[in-house]
Amino acid sequence: MPDILSLGECMVEFFAEEPLAEAEQVQKAFAGDALNLLAAASRLGSSCGFLSRVGNDPFQKYLLNGWENLGIDTSHVKRVEGRNGIYFISIYGHGERDFTYYRAGSAPSTMTPADLDPDYIAQARVLHISGIAQAISESARATALAAARIANEAHVCVSFDPNLRPALWSAAEARAAAEELLPHVDIALPSGPEESEQLFGLATAEETADYLRGFGAYAVAVKLGAAGVYLSTEDGTGMVPAFTVSHVVDTTGAGDAFNGAFLHGLVENMPPLEAARLGMVMAGLKVRGRGAIASLPEKSEVEAALAAWEQKSDMLP
Ligand code: ADP
Repeated sequence: MPDILSLGECMVEFFAEEPLAEAEQVQKAFAGDALNLLAAASRLGSSCGFLSRVGNDPFQKYLLNGWENLGIDTSHVKRVEGRNGIYFISIYGHGERDFTYYRAGSAPSTMTPADLDPDYIAQARVLHISGIAQAISESARATALAAARIANEAHVCVSFDPNLRPALWSAAEARAAAEELLPHVDIALPSGPEESEQLFGLATAEETADYLRGFGAYAVAVKLGAAGVYLSTEDGTGMVPAFTVSHVVDTTGAGDAFNGAFLHGLVENMPPLEAARLGMVMAGLKVRGRGAIASLPEKSEVEAALAAWEQKSDMLP
């Protein structure tokens, strides 16, 4: 039975090196914040399970096989009639990325609280909820809340990344959904400064962490891009610098890679600061390559980089 569960949507990705109007070839992959997190945690050795739905279109087998090949338990992904979400990434101008989504009405957006198996949730160590799962439909939002309540009752830690997507809903709607969930959240993993400013009207990582801890979260990690992460726990607060690499190729999914490694570390009983350092190395190595999942580093690479980094103790708080 998995230690880390994550609830949300994974979509089929088609990537083109050119604008979609000109592109003749696309590359297929799959990604989605909730699933990317599990891929990172599983890479480090955590047992992981996905809470979602998958539609019975021609991509169903591809998705299920792909998730299982990452070591993710799919026993609680409900197989349903319907389509899976699809998005295209294309490159235009000077390496800028354009995202085009075909997601409305996707199978995961039809999730309902009746999909949840309380026994499966109760045996886990952490349940992660993505704000995108709350955004894709009212029933998915209700499912996220119901899952958090089940986890609370069973004393399973609840983790939450608001992951604001203005294309899916307004900041006011996202804030209302976040505040509905936050009283149930133990670990909050927001991003700053743009997201926390838009979502909560808070300018600094300190204010964001204090605000989220005010709802009862015992650990908050505010992801700050190339600057690293601001960590706030009962043990103290401070910046953990990013693990920087010389050539940044693609930061898509970097936050998810951090989340997965951070939760893996906590499940392994690391102190939050140590788990955050592990997350920084995972995310720092991920940004060297394209794709949210394809560019995740191997566990041995993460361990070697972390050991080398920790030797330079002057870099660490
Ligand atoms: P999100 O993807 O959730 O917005 P961030 O952009 O803050 O999250 O990225 C998460 C982590 O990935 C950062 O804390 C950092 O460790 C790493 N990272 C992101 N962007 C860069 C970058 N440009 N250079 C180096 N590391 C980065």
